[in-house]
Amino acid sequence: MKQQLNTNRVSAKPKRSLGQNFIINENFLSNLNKNISSDSETTIIEIGPGKGALTNYLVKKNFESLYLIEKDYELSIQLKNNFKENKKIKILNEDALNYNFMSFYSCNNVIIIGNLPFNVSTQLLFKWLEEKKWPPFYKKMILMFQKEVAERITSKHNHKNYSRISVASQARCKVKSIVTAPSSIFFPKPKVDGVILEFTPILKYKEIDFQLLLNVLKLSFSQRRKKIKNNLYKYTDILEKLGINQNLRAENITVDEYCKIVKML
Ligand code: SAM
Repeated sequence: MKQQLNTNRVSAKPKRSLGQNFIINENFLSNLNKNISSDSETTIIEIGPGKGALTNYLVKKNFESLYLIEKDYELSIQLKNNFKENKKIKILNEDALNYNFMSFYSCNNVIIIGNLPFNVSTQLLFKWLEEKKWPPFYKKMILMFQKEVAERITSKHNHKNYSRISVASQARCKVKSIVTAPSSIFFPKPKVDGVILEFTPILKYKEIDFQLLLNVLKLSFSQRRKKIKNNLYKYTDILEKLGINQNLRAENITVDEYCKIVKML
């Protein structure tokens, strides 16, 4: 049975400019929380905690420290008041897109969690996939995406959803869909459903130049109906050496093959 949080305690009007759709379903939050494991050495970074719906669950977990990065000043003050007793919780009134995460590089076991505006999640995903040092500073990222974007991120080759973001994500991380988030669990209710994905960094392609991979993907998927020999006409010798059928389209080339192309550049 669904349980809705009392939305009366949502004091200030949600700001559309900050994509504020707050989770109001306790069953969903409890289920999501069960999928997040931590221990006494974990640093949890929650991005866009809002009014603290998920944070109220996270605070009961084991962790070394819990950082809450919230762009909305009023909400950050509210969070500071709510959690002022707990010295292991730090609230930062920052824009996660501009924030420098370097201070977390020395932490052992970092988990990033965020139910953010959908467009911000995608930008942050790329920011964290583009980390120069690999494996990166985080052990896991647990992020909410619009359902259609999540389907693209997790798609395998030979599928219409397979795109630049699928290859970029899967070349860097093992990606798993952990919970679906129907629009009814939010207040205000957004137009689309969401999905929470878990990203665990992998080492298989750690040597490749990720920026080069992004360039190759841009060329490959810019006109996805074209044959790969047209989109990657500069690299036909490499395609030939790798035995890749040049009449295939971008969506038919595997993550492994894209990474092999990049290795040979
Ligand atoms: N996580 C909360 C929840 O599930 O109820 C709030 C979700 S709401 C979709 C997104 C939250 O992210 C809002 O609190 C908003 O103010 C915050 N936010 C939006 N853009 C942000 C950014 N660039 N950096 C940090 N926080 C941001």
